[in-house]
Amino acid sequence: MAGKLIDGHGRAASYLRVSVTDRCNLLCRYCASKERTFIPHDDILRYEEITEVIEVARRIGIDKVRFTGGEPFVRKGFADYLEQIGARFPDLTLAVTTNATVIGKHIDRLAVSGLSRVNISLDTMDRDRYRHMTGRDLFDVVLENVRRCVDAGMTVKVNAVGVRGFNDDELPAFVEFARQNPVDVRFIEFMPIGTDTGWNESSVWTSKDIVREAGELADLAPAERGADAGPANMFAIRDGKGRIGVISPYTNHFCGTCNRLRLTSEGNLRTCLFSDKVFHLRKIIRHPTLDSGVLERVIRGALRSKPIGNDLLLARSRGGVCSTKMASIGG
Ligand code: SAM
Repeated sequence: MAGKLIDGHGRAASYLRVSVTDRCNLLCRYCASKERTFIPHDDILRYEEITEVIEVARRIGIDKVRFTGGEPFVRKGFADYLEQIGARFPDLTLAVTTNATVIGKHIDRLAVSGLSRVNISLDTMDRDRYRHMTGRDLFDVVLENVRRCVDAGMTVKVNAVGVRGFNDDELPAFVEFARQNPVDVRFIEFMPIGTDTGWNESSVWTSKDIVREAGELADLAPAERGADAGPANMFAIRDGKGRIGVISPYTNHFCGTCNRLRLTSEGNLRTCLFSDKVFHLRKIIRHPTLDSGVLERVIRGALRSKPIGNDLLLARSRGGVCSTKMASIGG
């Protein structure tokens, strides 16, 4: 059973994104619906069950795990769990995607226990707009935690979903933020995921437009792509401490090089963000007689059918949107 996991399109899977909860303390309009129903607690994978999947994933070539949600830090014991995973798998690259509202008290110990990469979602540079957008008055807390993560030596990326008519007027503030802080500020194109998100074709602020408009505000130079560049196109800012970048899942998909698998909080494996096809791992993990060899066979089988998601994305954007929101899938 040993050997790297290669899918039906010749792509290797090396990156697992794990959603540890579907709960979030924010109510971002495009991400979580108002009438949210949550997965019952008993159906959420326990930490030791997530570890079982990570064990198997490592055997088949996964070398990077990103924890996400919902908001991972609202799940009880998450910081402790991260520490445990860091100690147990020192060769894994560990990362977290967070809204950075409740990470504060954990930053120092996580920095010394192997968490080197934090992606912080922040869609606006304006306090009032933040409150309006998320339903919580936590803008200053987030900025403070960005600074503290940087000071603790972590690689910090600030991710903003670029939405025409919502935050496109804030490009100067974002560019200024990247100029003054040693962080990558990255705009992600708004994707047609979930219902009642307000998505429509004209709400997509395209990467091309963002780069052009940012180029009018600052002297940008395309940054070299490092080994761990991911799908973002980054630009250095002359005389700036940080960089600005774009991720284009909508206008310039990167499905041909996609190395990702996703594990949802209820234990479903998704091989593609834009496909509703899931593989139910929880019932295997909780089965009294099935062992990790079965889990491995199912994951390998799932990967063999991993689609080229852009075809699905285009179909969706024409005929409606994907029914599952990012908060449930794990962003
Ligand atoms: N709570 C964590 C956070 O705030 O980063 C992790 C979960 S959140 C769902 C992960 C990311 O997904 C956020 O950056 C969010 O902005 C992004 N996201 C949610 N819905 C999206 C959409 N329709 N298009 C693009 N990005 C989206």
